Amino acid sequence: MLTILTGGTGGVKLIEGLTAEIDPAKLTIICNTADDCIFHGLYVSPDLDTVTYTLAGINDSAKGWGIKDDCFTVLEQLRRLGEPTWFKLGDKDLATHIMRSRLLHEGLSLARVTGEICDRLKVSAKILPMSDERVETRVGTTDGEISFQEYFVKERWSKAVISVRFEGIEQSRPAPGVIEAIRQASAVVICPSNPVTSIGPILAVPGIHAALVETKAPVVALSPIIGASAISGPAHKLMVAAGLEASAFGVAQAYAGVVDTIVIATADKQMKNRIEKLGIATVLSDIVMSDLAGKRRVAREVLALLEK
Ligand code: GDP
Repeated sequence: MLTILTGGTGGVKLIEGLTAEIDPAKLTIICNTADDCIFHGLYVSPDLDTVTYTLAGINDSAKGWGIKDDCFTVLEQLRRLGEPTWFKLGDKDLATHIMRSRLLHEGLSLARVTGEICDRLKVSAKILPMSDERVETRVGTTDGEISFQEYFVKERWSKAVISVRFEGIEQSRPAPGVIEAIRQASAVVICPSNPVTSIGPILAVPGIHAALVETKAPVVALSPIIGASAISGPAHKLMVAAGLEASAFGVAQAYAGVVDTIVIATADKQMKNRIEKLGIATVLSDIVMSDLAGKRRVAREVLALLEK
């Protein structure tokens, strides 16, 4: 079993590559849920959904979120009714949130609901939320604290960030199966996801970091940063707010003690020595995954490292 830690958009690129190379049934995917939000009374879990839709083959790969060929009739009517519609939810996507909200309301845990959605969409990989408990990323800006989705989607990550915290993290517990998936894995992969707001919350759920340190499985990470910038999105800005260097070295700092090997961009070769001083073997490669061939190429490289 290959165990994967991931957020949404960057993570699914590698996951798409991996599922093209190996049987998806061999994957257990632990997803960030600290970006989850309630919209229109419905429980929306953006990272779980992006991963689930990708594995079900129904994701909108052009947008990087949502379901392909979706339309926005419901959202348009909500807008006419004067409801806030800055978070885009397609009609087909809304069906997932309606079903999830109903099952949660009936008392099922987030992990069980996720399993149910995966079964119905015929996803053979196992997808687990990091926790069944509610954890919420709060982004501190000069105008006060906002949710991650407000920062990322509503404000288009334009506000200066001064802090990041995960509300509810101390009381959270790993969802059933998460610790076992790390302990019993043949290998663990940390996706090129935002190290602060996607992988950060997963590592902060009490027990997960320790399980990663203790597992006998090799742990490999892929950098989402080239130079001083994320390949997409605000990871570099959030890293600075979290006290990390905005670079592949900063990613390695965040994962020190947890990962055995990190794959970084060839352009960052001058960081190799500094990273290796943290006790992390460093491999240089082309880490950009622009198309399926690129995703498969990176996935094959990661798999080859795990076999060593
Ligand atoms: P989010 O939940 O939508 O923020 O998604 P993630 O946390 O999974 O992904 C965001 C990260 O993916 C960003 O930091 C990007 O730099 C990274 N990313 C996007 N595309 C690529 C790529 O092709 N290669 C690598 N290595 N990272 C990427």
